[in-house]
Amino acid sequence: MKIEEVISFLESFAHPSLQEHYDNSGLITGDGGWECKGIICSLDATEDVIKEAIEKKYNLVIAHHPIIFGGLKKINGKNYVGKTIIRAIKNDIAIYAIHTNLDNVIEGVNGRMAKMLDLQNLSILAPRQNTLKKFFTFVPADKAEQVRNAIFAAGGGHIGNYSECSFNAEGEGTFKALAGTHPYVGQPGKRHSEKELKIEVILPSHLENKIVAAVRTVHPYEEVAYDIVDLSNLNLRVGSGVIGVLPRAMGETEFLGQLKKVFQLQVVRHTSLSGKPIQKVALCGGAGSFLISSALTARADVFVTADIKYHEFFDANDNLLIADIGHYESEQFTISLLQEILEQKFPTFAVLKTAVRTNPVWYS
Ligand SMILES: [Zn+2]
Repeated sequence: MKIEEVISFLESFAHPSLQEHYDNSGLITGDGGWECKGIICSLDATEDVIKEAIEKKYNLVIAHHPIIFGGLKKINGKNYVGKTIIRAIKNDIAIYAIHTNLDNVIEGVNGRMAKMLDLQNLSILAPRQNTLKKFFTFVPADKAEQVRNAIFAAGGGHIGNYSECSFNAEGEGTFKALAGTHPYVGQPGKRHSEKELKIEVILPSHLENKIVAAVRTVHPYEEVAYDIVDLSNLNLRVGSGVIGVLPRAMGETEFLGQLKKVFQLQVVRHTSLSGKPIQKVALCGGAGSFLISSALTARADVFVTADIKYHEFFDANDNLLIADIGHYESEQFTISLLQEILEQKFPTFAVLKTAVRTNPVWYS
């Protein structure tokens, strides 16, 4: 199996176009054309993780955090980034990062945190705009089903927990085939009227080319008529943070205890306890202070995240319990998530979780 096959599967799960503008997800070192000898999943691609891959004779490290993130101007081995990159390149190790694109899909980093807390009725806390399009095509009625099937198989027509969503309106199309054409119906040189169906479906923007290609393959016309329109709808399956409810309400102290148990924490930094029960839980793995206002608007009882600064705790305005559980701790289950989805797709392939504790923060 080629490394690019692994990448293309990961990108069908969390497409790179869903990453934030400042991010650097994707293949950072190595070549997609290489034969994949084994995969190590990690939160960080540190030098120790690269050494681990070399020892195991694996050549693909999949990390959540991109090892090259800001501008990199020198690679001389004087800092951890340079050392890691040099060791990876010298040993033909590919490093692939799946960062904010994995944060931004509901089954990703935050969905896994929610699963660990047994949250129900999950939705995205701050859904994204401008990631959806509408696709229309016009097809003779007897071929409508095969065109719809092709669109659905290519990933079009998902709305929330519904798939195969389309709207179909009957109408009449006209065309005149010109010289050199081979029309499916009608005769060259004469205007033809045909009973057609207008099929419309919603699709994630990154699937546009795939869906157009799929329709072209099965549509009977030589010239396929279609329109694609940008939508400003919120995409409820893509965006930052998630929110859900606990199966039963619990006291604040009990909930903090639950956090400590599930995420194996030595410490939780949090705002003052108000005595209100906790049931609605917002969360965001990693640095989530940008979502405090969204958690307040959504009337969450608690916001579980990391990297909250002193002044940001004040932003709770006594209306929200903010729980900072640590960056690594909040995202640690991403490693199992990556391993599980890869093992499911490639069951006979060697996929390991790193044995290296990459967390740079210690508590004493
Ligand atoms: Zn992170």
